[in-house]
Amino acid sequence: MAYKFVDNYREKGARKQLVKHLEKRGIEDKNVLRAIGKVPRHFFFDETFWNQAYRDIAFPIGDGQTISQPYTVAYQSELLHVKDGDKVLEIGTGCGYQSCILLELGADLYTIERQENLYNRTIQVLPYIGYKPHFFLGDGSKGIPEHAPYDKIIVTAGAPFVPDVMLKQLKPGGLLVIPVGDENSQKMVTILRVGENNFERIDLDTFRFVPLVGDKAW
Ligand code: SAM
Repeated sequence: MAYKFVDNYREKGARKQLVKHLEKRGIEDKNVLRAIGKVPRHFFFDETFWNQAYRDIAFPIGDGQTISQPYTVAYQSELLHVKDGDKVLEIGTGCGYQSCILLELGADLYTIERQENLYNRTIQVLPYIGYKPHFFLGDGSKGIPEHAPYDKIIVTAGAPFVPDVMLKQLKPGGLLVIPVGDENSQKMVTILRVGENNFERIDLDTFRFVPLVGDKAW
């Protein structure tokens, strides 16, 4: 069934307020802030909840999943340092909000989701609002080896460990951003591939993501 969308929402500057709020919380990358200011987040919500769309909160999107909190999306996007034309793999498409931000930053985006219901909805919503990544349905904990290597990989679900397969799919100089920890809290981790078998890891702030479920995950 094709989805039908109505965009008669008057957000009365709420999106600009969200950008200001994220700046105050420490997001500095002007391109990330511009992207947040551009993507219509209310499209990812049921009409009943449009008034929640520009609050800095995660929100249930069905099938036990959430649209990520804008601060988390901005934080991961800032860490990823996307350059125009970068080949980026996103693991955990969900509703596709983070995907739109990455596309606004100039990514050539490959995005994978394991839940068919979400996938089916997102492949209709994103093109409708003008965003066209390469969509995949399946277990992203193994990456997508057929399209590797990538300049950047971003994981938007909490992993119990860093899967080796993801590191192998990075180009030399490539960067992985992944939340790693237990079910309740994860550290945001960045891993830079500095050589064939040489990686630099940095552990950053604590977040709480839904679990990365799959062959190389929970
Ligand atoms: N990026 C989304 C956004 O912009 O709001 C939020 C993603 S949500 C926090 C995490 C997503 O990862 C869920 O949709 C979940 O189904 C998906 N996921 C979990 N394990 C996965 C796996 N192994 N492969 C692909 N997607 C997975």
